[in-house]
Amino acid sequence: MTAHDVFDILVIGGGVNGTGIARDAAGRGYRVALAEMNDLASGTSSAATKLVHGGLRYLEHYEFRLVREALIEREVLWASAPHIIWPMRFVLPYEKNLRPAWLLRLGLFLYDHLGGRKLLPATRTLDLTEDEAGRPLKPGFRTAFEYSDGWVDDARLVVLNARDAADRGAEILVRTKVVSARRDAGGWRIDLARADGSLRTVSARLLVNAGGPWVDKVIVEAMGRNDAHHVRLVKGSHIVVRRLFEHERCYFFQNRDGRIFFAIPYEGDFTLIGTTDKDFAGDPATVAIDAEETEYLLAAANEYFARAVTREDIVWTYSGVRPLFDDGASAAQEATRDYVLRAEGGRDNGPLINVFGGKLTTHRRLSEEVVDRIDGMIGPKGPRWTRDGKLPGGDFAPTGFEAELARQQAIYPNLNPQLLRRLVRAYGTAVPSILGTRRDTADLGQLFGGTLYQVEVDWLIEREWARSAEDILWRRSKQGLRLNQAEVSELARYVDARIGGMEQ
Ligand code: FAD
Repeated sequence: MTAHDVFDILVIGGGVNGTGIARDAAGRGYRVALAEMNDLASGTSSAATKLVHGGLRYLEHYEFRLVREALIEREVLWASAPHIIWPMRFVLPYEKNLRPAWLLRLGLFLYDHLGGRKLLPATRTLDLTEDEAGRPLKPGFRTAFEYSDGWVDDARLVVLNARDAADRGAEILVRTKVVSARRDAGGWRIDLARADGSLRTVSARLLVNAGGPWVDKVIVEAMGRNDAHHVRLVKGSHIVVRRLFEHERCYFFQNRDGRIFFAIPYEGDFTLIGTTDKDFAGDPATVAIDAEETEYLLAAANEYFARAVTREDIVWTYSGVRPLFDDGASAAQEATRDYVLRAEGGRDNGPLINVFGGKLTTHRRLSEEVVDRIDGMIGPKGPRWTRDGKLPGGDFAPTGFEAELARQQAIYPNLNPQLLRRLVRAYGTAVPSILGTRRDTADLGQLFGGTLYQVEVDWLIEREWARSAEDILWRRSKQGLRLNQAEVSELARYVDARIGGMEQ
């Protein structure tokens, strides 16, 4: 083992929680490594509904602490990354056979006032017979409540946390599985298996297990414990259909079974509908939508939209597994969405922190709490810093996206405007680092399809740990919605050749 292989902290898992913890800890001055067995955000963190939200529905389960903390986080996260996070208005139609209007009003009153709303606009009542939001709906809906929450590109949130962690000194290891972690000389000795079959052994003073749905599996398989049953795995699926409505607001619909679902404008030409909530027992790596879920989501959408939504409208689906802390709730949708941290071991006794549950929205707070505990376990470094920190490319005002886009349009007047808007959404102020001196669309290299050019692909490989066409098409971007099979194959060929060249 060389001096390079000795870390203060090794984080298992490159989802939103693992990368958030690595970022916070590296920024406070710890020597950090993070191991992700597949791609960054390849687990639950790219399969969310993508809301930065308090969780209106959790009020019904009296989860006031969680809702308040998450509501406060909305504007903190928005300010840290206004390119990938932005406010959205949600239209909740009132339906007389479901929750009463007074209950919805009370919930939204609490939602408006529980936590730190400064820039987000308050709730208002809509007349759906007049408002544009009523137009795509079936006749009969007269009133709706419109409230604020936020939207996030979940997979990019993860990669930007990883990028920031690396810029602050962390070592980010992708396609690297923790196969064994054993207590050794007061700390940990960890065996890492890379995708090419090679092994590396490192040591760390403290271990963080942020394995998401695999958290129990890590405890059993890598740490050699007999048993672990801390998380309840709950599957959630989404369908993406051709655009169902023209405006930019989302719908928050109630279902007859008491559950709720969203219909959200997605990637310009599409509508995202989800989610389901179903206990899950298989391998989280193979999770996929089933026929029952597809029917459920189509039927739910058809309760509200005037235009029939059919299987033929579905262009993509995705599924994820929520790693919920097992609080013994009987129904999947009732299990707590709050996170739980379990620390064990002292300073000289292999300290370990297991992370259970959590949401995209609370990942920064969770990370802060984990690193506060690390502080107490292996000795303090710098103070908390992420509340006012910016993620890479997010260094402009929360309400300043259009101004930032206009500033970059002045630099790149000859660039395809649709492409530039997408790039500024994905990379913010980092776009000039990607484009360098290129000013025309013709200078951007090979076009792989959609608006995906070689210059961006090269950046994603060099700076964002992309290692396959899938990483690029479905996580670093959503250009997968735009490429045909031949284009995907050509991109895969290019990525393989490029990575092969880097490894020689
Ligand atoms: P993951 O993202 O799963 O990361 C764990 C990582 O650990 C994986 O990438 C895995 O490959 C890696 N790993 C596991 N074992 C090993 C090992 N041995 N070695 C190396 N790496 C390993 N939250 C919100 O705030 N808003 C929402 O709208 C929202 N919607 C959701 C909708 C659905 C359907 C689901 C499923 C979740 C939703 N969530 C939402 C919750 C949120 O997505 C999750 O809480 C969050 O992504 C969990 O992140 P994580 O880092 O804990 O887990």
